[in-house]
Amino acid sequence: SYSYAGMADIAMETGDIDYLSAVMSLWDNIVNRKYYVTGGIGSGETSEGFGPDYSLPHNAYCESCSSCGLIFFQHKLGMIWHASPYADLLEDTLYNALLGSIDLEGRNFYYQNPLDSRGDRYDWHGCPCCVGNIPRTLLMLPTWMYSKSDDALYVNLFVGSTVHVGQVAGTALEITQTTDYPWSGKVEIAVNPTVEKEFSISIRRPNRSVSNLYDARPASDGIASIAVNGRAISPSVRNGYAVINRRWKKGDRILLDLPLEVQRVKAIDQVEAIRGRVALRRGPLIYSFESIDQNIDNVLPSDTPLTARWRPDLLDGVVVIEGTWADGSPLVAIPNYARHNRSGAAERPEGRRRGTRSSVWVRDR
Ligand SMILES: [Zn+2]
Repeated sequence: SYSYAGMADIAMETGDIDYLSAVMSLWDNIVNRKYYVTGGIGSGETSEGFGPDYSLPHNAYCESCSSCGLIFFQHKLGMIWHASPYADLLEDTLYNALLGSIDLEGRNFYYQNPLDSRGDRYDWHGCPCCVGNIPRTLLMLPTWMYSKSDDALYVNLFVGSTVHVGQVAGTALEITQTTDYPWSGKVEIAVNPTVEKEFSISIRRPNRSVSNLYDARPASDGIASIAVNGRAISPSVRNGYAVINRRWKKGDRILLDLPLEVQRVKAIDQVEAIRGRVALRRGPLIYSFESIDQNIDNVLPSDTPLTARWRPDLLDGVVVIEGTWADGSPLVAIPNYARHNRSGAAERPEGRRRGTRSSVWVRDR
């Protein structure tokens, strides 16, 4: 994935159409044939590489650093095309595969980062690439949040922050986002250009089913409402972004509401490992079921109501998804990134619990 990110750089710098064509073929094959629902890649049938098309076993290799390279690749393609699917996928990998590779303390990590996991993360690995790669990718968050053209700013991620994005349309520009996303869909964006100027702010309209492999229902895409300085607007849509073109001045405010339905994710039939299985998603977060809470070999019926609930007491505060298994017992799913953080290993590292299991996909029949 690092090499593909470099190839995208060359395609962008040279404009070589053959190079770009090769890069897009690779992207298409990865995203639509070899892509985990967590945004992880590399099923591991070949040495640290990809397996055959549609071969996505749950005990995948999904090496953590491949997620870093994939984020770089998606970001570069987003800079070339200024189209939202690359940022949609980047967000998936960031929140699920990459964040799922480190523990809540930020001290321990998975080298192999499979969807079916067993046991805690570790503080060191014989091949210690991830220990540096994961933090540097997370610390580059401002880079992934925005991209630019001469007269437009593209908002790719929704993260509470203040970022100096540099020059747009001849003015320095600072953007402050205030939000609890992904727990809440409300996002306030304060636009602070040094000089009043006309330019576009293009805001990603999330698509939760970019890869042809997966379909998430009910739909929870796009932006439910947008207001500028308190007035509701209906901006035009280009390449998956809502485009707001106006004269921006310091203190202008954009208010967004992003839908965050609890979704059931199903895969196409070609993915043998996932037949008869379902995963849960809310916004950018893919969920995981842990054996510490329930029997994860149970069946999740397709008609069971599922609800989201904020649990400030659990895992430093998470929105859980609750429901009922086929046998009537209570079901609870936690965000995949937070899995395997409750064994108490931090207090007694000598006694890491190996027996706890977690799974992203569970049986639905
Ligand atoms: Zn690594």
